[in-house]
Amino acid sequence: MIWNEERETMSDSKKRELHSELLRNLVKRVYEKIPFYKKKMDELGVKPSDIKTIDDIVKLPFTTKDDLRENYPFGMFAVPMSEVVEIHTSSGTTGKPVVGGYTKNDIDMWSEVMARCMAASGTTRDDVVQNAYGYGLFTGGLGVHYGSRKIGANVIPISGGNTKRQIMVMQDFGSTILTCTPSYALYLAEVGEEMGVDFKKLPLKAGNFGAEPWSNNMRKEIESRLGILALDIYGLTEIIGPGVGNECEYKEGIHICDDHFYPEIINPDTGEVLEPGEVGELVITTLTREATPLLRYRTRDITSIIPGKCKCGRTSTRIQRIMGRTDDMLIIRGVNVFPSQIEEVLVNIEGVEPHYQIIVDRVGALDVLEVQVEMNEKLLSDEIKELEALERKIQSEIESMLGIKVGVKLVEPKTIARSEGKAKRVIDKRKL
Ligand code: ADP
Ligand code: ZN
Repeated sequence: MIWNEERETMSDSKKRELHSELLRNLVKRVYEKIPFYKKKMDELGVKPSDIKTIDDIVKLPFTTKDDLRENYPFGMFAVPMSEVVEIHTSSGTTGKPVVGGYTKNDIDMWSEVMARCMAASGTTRDDVVQNAYGYGLFTGGLGVHYGSRKIGANVIPISGGNTKRQIMVMQDFGSTILTCTPSYALYLAEVGEEMGVDFKKLPLKAGNFGAEPWSNNMRKEIESRLGILALDIYGLTEIIGPGVGNECEYKEGIHICDDHFYPEIINPDTGEVLEPGEVGELVITTLTREATPLLRYRTRDITSIIPGKCKCGRTSTRIQRIMGRTDDMLIIRGVNVFPSQIEEVLVNIEGVEPHYQIIVDRVGALDVLEVQVEMNEKLLSDEIKELEALERKIQSEIESMLGIKVGVKLVEPKTIARSEGKAKRVIDKRKL
């Protein structure tokens, strides 16, 4: 369902006009209010008056995560603290968390974009949203909360964890929409199955899953085990939190709410802007954010812009689902490896669970990669011979996918840690 016809199906020319106007205002604002940007722009010799249309965006400086860390906590705020009504931080997956501030208008904008994302998965005012993203400084919980409220759905603010209680609430309150990380959705399925729950008999119908990369095969697994439609939601604290974009029912890429977040794809090594279809780092400019606006923020997330329009009627820019982040990308003997590629293989193999961990180590001068994957209960009783054959099969499938040698080890059921939030897929012993 399209939440905001006017904004989500805007013509190219109208959007161009809007983008140009918002960018001019944004640049004036950050130049006057944020010393960091004044300095950066002065160094590049760019004045706010040089920015006339959206095409001039390439004249503007990038912003990196390190820039935000150097200005921690409030150095990048463009409004006095009395205008700030809420603060969040990133999960800190890759280091010191970064801080995002919200004015009253920012919270309204966040509610709006989240309403679009949740409506895309079919949420209406008649739905019961079981919100199992963490509430707190992390943006997931409150983002979904604000979106649900805007739609007028009934939100259950259960937060993450306490999995048996999640299952009980789902049954007793008749949850129709589930929101959590994809790894946690799978864990919920596992625990529910152990409790003898038949999810297909429950009213649960769809979910917005995100905050970490997940493969299409993982989606199929979640959809079949929970009996729902599973769509991908994308976002990051620096930009707003969840709500930067969501898939529609066609599952052909993530629609970016591009009237608020202007996307570009760059070559991460040179900073050169890439064409639609070319894979690179996603860069986003927050066109309307008041408290912590960002020019050309380098997300470190790897994707491409999808050329052409979507069948759903939305005209918003679409990106491919995120492959991973530049920080997660392992370079093994010169080959780029994302955990999501390995997941894609594992989820298709009979007898193993999509619970896995990737161990990277250095032996002498050589990087070695081992994939530990859980076998399921059925397989546990099999002969050693058969287990070894399965290990070899997984190994050869991963090797043909990645083009490098890997080790594979089957481990006993339920031995890989389950996560209530973002799953930790890679253990890099090289850094220890
Ligand atoms: P942190 O960088 O500490 O994890 P956040 O909690 O703000 O900070 O998470 C944002 C990041 O999570 C994104 O930059 C991206 O790497 C990842 N992410 C969020 N949603 C998705 C998604 N749908 N698919 C893949 N990765 C995602
Ligand atoms: Zn669409």
